[in-house]
Amino acid sequence: MQDASTSPAPMLGIDLGTTNSLVAVWQDGRAQLIPNALGDVLTPSVVSLDEDGSILVGKAARSRLTTHPQRTAAAFKRFMGSEKKITLGDQVFSPEELSALVLGALKADAEAFLGCPISEAVISVPAYFSDEQRKRTSFAAELAGLKVQRLINEPTAAAMAYGLHEQKFERTLIFDLGGGTFDVTVLEYALPLIEVHASTGDNFLGGEDFTGALLQACLQHWQLKPATLAPQALASLADAIEQLKCKLGEGEQHLSWNGDGVSRHWSLDEARAQKIWAPLLARIRAPIEQALRDARLRASDLDSLVLVGGATRMPVIQQMVSTLFGRLPYRHLDPDTIVALGAATQAACKARDSAIEELILTDVCPYTLGIAAMDGEYQTEIFAPIIDRNTVIPTSRIKPFYSTHIEQTAISIRVYQGERPWVEDNIFVDSFKIPLTPNGKIQRLDVRFSYDINGLLEVDVTLPQTREQFSHVIDRSPTGLDEDARQASHERLAGLKIHPRDALPNRTLLARLERAWAQSLGAERDAIGDWLNEFSAILAGQESTEIAGARQRLIEALDDMRY
Ligand code: AMP
Repeated sequence: MQDASTSPAPMLGIDLGTTNSLVAVWQDGRAQLIPNALGDVLTPSVVSLDEDGSILVGKAARSRLTTHPQRTAAAFKRFMGSEKKITLGDQVFSPEELSALVLGALKADAEAFLGCPISEAVISVPAYFSDEQRKRTSFAAELAGLKVQRLINEPTAAAMAYGLHEQKFERTLIFDLGGGTFDVTVLEYALPLIEVHASTGDNFLGGEDFTGALLQACLQHWQLKPATLAPQALASLADAIEQLKCKLGEGEQHLSWNGDGVSRHWSLDEARAQKIWAPLLARIRAPIEQALRDARLRASDLDSLVLVGGATRMPVIQQMVSTLFGRLPYRHLDPDTIVALGAATQAACKARDSAIEELILTDVCPYTLGIAAMDGEYQTEIFAPIIDRNTVIPTSRIKPFYSTHIEQTAISIRVYQGERPWVEDNIFVDSFKIPLTPNGKIQRLDVRFSYDINGLLEVDVTLPQTREQFSHVIDRSPTGLDEDARQASHERLAGLKIHPRDALPNRTLLARLERAWAQSLGAERDAIGDWLNEFSAILAGQESTEIAGARQRLIEALDDMRY
């Protein structure tokens, strides 16, 4: 616990990741990571509903992915912005509600660490996150009691942290492959200016897909169908495959598994994994090429290459990047923590911390925004861009459009984002109607798009003939979520019982012992079963010194067994 000072409560920097989340704060002239109740700076973005109806977040929840898959959810950031519902036991959650629980846990950790209530944060999002995904992230923060002062693009946050540490780069490409998303950002350091030239990416490509592809290949090898396996069995295999993936760089890996009662074996080396991953690896090239093209640079023009995100630890990714760019990537800073540190740096800039005043950041809108319009010549509906991708933000652009016939009494403005010529191939953002008073003429509408530094859009329409103005602000609340739905989310979360933070270390060890028991066999399993009983008995005794001693001893024993 730190001293509560008389200065205003600090603003947090949060990396809300698909796999892990982190929180950092600017203190004593530098960005610092905040540990959770277990002393770790990485909090798994996993939520579980305990048997007693309380919510567990983080490492304990992650252990329960194997033992209680139907009461546990992971990687829900991948569904942010969709209408998907996730069931944990007898309760149903939206992706933003689950994200709010993770943010709430990080907020509680920060409050315990800093010794004061916290209400503001800069939160990072994948650069390629859509308008809807950004709005839902803001709503998740609101549900957690945090006001978002800025949504910062993850690679841009990484660039800010590098800007402070390594002030020698010029043109840099940031390659950010996390658990669920892939972003490529080209930027230039001309300190104090950090100028983003282009950002592209793939919102559905990350380390989880590499694990998923191996899982499928393994099941295929054993001629097993996922639907025929019990959820626990499938979850334990996915867990084992994830561990195997992370060790592939050490050489050929051997997997033994008997989750369905049959002893099975599978071996995998890098060369074979590379073949399995070929379709995923192929998807990495296009965003890199597009980012360079948009920045009007060739790979050889870059002065440096920075890797960010846990999945860039994969040797196959490092090799591919080195081959594509003909140079070794720079990974001086930890790819897991850099985004949170950058978000905290940005928070300090927002709060005008004197130690950091000199850094100025310009970012871009990573996708084209426009409206559906009729092509006059061919009478087909086309996507008419208003803000081109990689325009520097904040930006405001205006474009004239015309009514299609003179009796028209209303015109529908349908906003889309994307890079495809046909409207329906792009992502729908919002729509609204503008009333027209027929005056015997075709009428002109000036449509203005304003895109702010958080990546949120506003639309204004002016009718020059009548001087009418419609400052339709695109609804900043998540589309599809009316006030009742938002209120219902607030009430549902307020009614949840959150597992007490100070009891988390013990609960986490219990969950880890249960997982280790499920994964082990024979003498090892007997020993783990004994420890589980022993630790439960010690907990019942409520003797804190004895509990802490036993906990430390058992954590070391599990570490030795590599569970
Ligand atoms: P992040 O969202 O940045 O925390 O990245 C999480 C992703 O990185 C997950 O898909 C992990 O499987 C992956 N990852 C983390 N460490 C390794 C490793 N040593 N080898 C391969 N993948 C890793």
